[in-house]
Amino acid sequence: MLDLPNCPKCHSTYTYEDASLLICPECAHEWTLESETEDRDDNKVVKDANGNVLNDGDMVTVIKDLKVKGSSSVIKIGTKVKNIRLVDGDHDIDCKIDDFGAMKLKSEFVKKV
Ligand SMILES: [Zn+2]
Repeated sequence: MLDLPNCPKCHSTYTYEDASLLICPECAHEWTLESETEDRDDNKVVKDANGNVLNDGDMVTVIKDLKVKGSSSVIKIGTKVKNIRLVDGDHDIDCKIDDFGAMKLKSEFVKKV
């Protein structure tokens, strides 16, 4: 027996499966397991300044001078950043930049190479 999820509407435990549909006999709600997975947020898409989708391991360049927090250094426009890693948060790119070390960047200030 498959362990079917409870009805998302009325939380009935009497849900049953009909082909790819899940059906609740109590409130007649119908839904699919696939649509439940799509709703999850763990596949967030991160895009660069041009709207290209970024992936872990991509190389990007910085499109404007970026001040480094807590120092007087500036990451110059055109700086190449190799092997980025996408993370959650306001700064959604984790990376290492030559001469600067570990950095966090905003995807809106880079473009894919
Ligand atoms: Zn129901």
